[in-house]
Amino acid sequence: MLLSGFSLSAYAAPSGHDLRVQEGSISLSGSPSSVVLALSGEWNFLPGQLVRSQSDSKNWTRLRVPGEWSRAVSPENGLELGTYALSIHGLEPGTMYAVHLGEIGAVARVFANGRFIGKTGELNPEHGGPEISFARPIYSFNARQGINEITVQVANGDLAVGGIWQNILFGTADTLYQHRLLRSALEMFFIGGIFLLGMYYFWVYLLWPGQHSSMLLALYSFLVALKSVFSGQQILFTAIPSIPDVLVIRLAHLATVVAVPVLLQFFRYLYPGITGKTGIRLSCSVALLQSLIIVFFPPHVFQVTAFMYHGVITLHVPYVAWIFYRARKRGDSGVPIGVIGFAVLLLTGTNDILHDQGVIQTTYMWNIGFFCFLFAQSILQAYRFRTINEESERVKLNLKQAVAKRTAQLTRERNKLSQIAKTDGLTGLHNRRYGMEQLQKELNRVRRYGGCMVVALIDIDNFKVINDTHGHLAGDKVLTRIGTLFTEELRKVDFSARWGGEEFLLFFPNTDLENGKIVLEKLRESFSSHIFHSKSEPFTVSFSYGLSDFNGGKEGIEEVLQHCDYALYHAKETGRNRGAIYSEALQPITSLERQS
Ligand code: GH3
Ligand code: MG
Ligand code: MG
Repeated sequence: MLLSGFSLSAYAAPSGHDLRVQEGSISLSGSPSSVVLALSGEWNFLPGQLVRSQSDSKNWTRLRVPGEWSRAVSPENGLELGTYALSIHGLEPGTMYAVHLGEIGAVARVFANGRFIGKTGELNPEHGGPEISFARPIYSFNARQGINEITVQVANGDLAVGGIWQNILFGTADTLYQHRLLRSALEMFFIGGIFLLGMYYFWVYLLWPGQHSSMLLALYSFLVALKSVFSGQQILFTAIPSIPDVLVIRLAHLATVVAVPVLLQFFRYLYPGITGKTGIRLSCSVALLQSLIIVFFPPHVFQVTAFMYHGVITLHVPYVAWIFYRARKRGDSGVPIGVIGFAVLLLTGTNDILHDQGVIQTTYMWNIGFFCFLFAQSILQAYRFRTINEESERVKLNLKQAVAKRTAQLTRERNKLSQIAKTDGLTGLHNRRYGMEQLQKELNRVRRYGGCMVVALIDIDNFKVINDTHGHLAGDKVLTRIGTLFTEELRKVDFSARWGGEEFLLFFPNTDLENGKIVLEKLRESFSSHIFHSKSEPFTVSFSYGLSDFNGGKEGIEEVLQHCDYALYHAKETGRNRGAIYSEALQPITSLERQS
């Protein structure tokens, strides 16, 4: 069906052979003998759907030109050539109309009613050979009365094939420029969105450097944004009109090729343990090979080899689906969102392929697809982070409790150890080292604050004999009995320690000799009246003691103990089971006797 007001014709110039569009079909008239005219294949100028219906003008439509033109070779320079012509009826005379060519992939010159109105690429540049351009300018012209003719001459450049592949847009200049503005804005929106998502992922990575998945998603987003900029040429060519086309197309292909293993690596980090190394290795190898071809070979070569990574991309679909399936089975709650994003990407990708093949009349949507996919990943990541966060909070709490428990246990053990360090195991009294410390402290206290104290050394009488007669166990019982006696009978402020084998140290703070002696006599009597039972026969034991006081004088701890020792010796010498109080008179005699 022709659109009302239009009659379209295409013909191969310049020999006057017509391709006429009538009722949706095209007929070729004339003889296609000349090479220049050899336009073959499915030649359809399909008046596509109305892109924008304007109430005042029906002159706005999209004309689809699928397929390539056949290899007509120019007799002049051997270049493959073709000419497209549109004859348009019913245009408003004096109005500015415009034509926007889709991807030509060739050098083109555009004429309106025989007048040159613009070109893309150079047919015969000075350095020889055509130089193609991927810029898609809008060519405008003033409509004349009657039939208007737009002619596009194309010559193949570096590409293996030539022709007009994409939609031709035609309309009033105003609407066409508006349309392009809208398209650029949409491109900017989605590409900008993809780029911002990339920035967000990168930011997340900086905050949380362990999250390699974020870094890879950032990289993937940047690659997709770059690919979009390089192949969505509206923005790029508007911003940098002089950018070389071949560079642009190389960069676009490179970004696409590298993005694939990056995405796979992202999934590896997102779901550790699910994917193996084989897939990523295969993906990287193909990407590397394809990258080398893209960098070192001309476009018509690498465009032909593009099937390689198209194949790889296709293989990734079941692979990613499998990853999602495993992750779901492992209980990852964000998977459905990831699947939705991936599905949108798949749908838009399929749309673009079908659109390319001319099966459906839509527009390219992969920018939207990528945007949705990446956005879904951000939600999926948020889910993952929440799970990880909860987990780490739990771990922190557990750790805190464990540390508290362990600290309490250590404190108990330390107290026990310090108790053990100052206690004598057999008698339960303090040991010698602790006794020495405490005695020193008490002496210091008296020396500083005044007052008095009594110190005593006690020695069990004939203990060797008891051991020999009743056995070592009986001897131990005697020692234990002393421990109990001291613990039970003495005041809290009094101090007792096991000094040696069967010797004991006592001191009584704030006590004078007289009172000290009373206490010791009480202890001695109590002890000596106790009857021990052994296997052989019951027996009693006594002890002797030496007593000395301290009133803050000059003597040190050694001297005080020495005084007690002299007195104790005297008590032993004078019959045992008694005590002696130190006086200077005891000193020379006892020391002399000891030496002898
Ligand atoms: P004296 O009246 O002169 O003090 O005579 P003694 O036999 O008590 O004196 P001596 O120093 O000759 O003997 C002390 C004995 O105490 C020797 C040692 O075997 C014994 N002895 C030391 N420590 C322990 C102990 O822990 N358990 C037992 N059963 N005997 C001990
Ligand atoms: Mg002794
Ligand atoms: Mg003894």
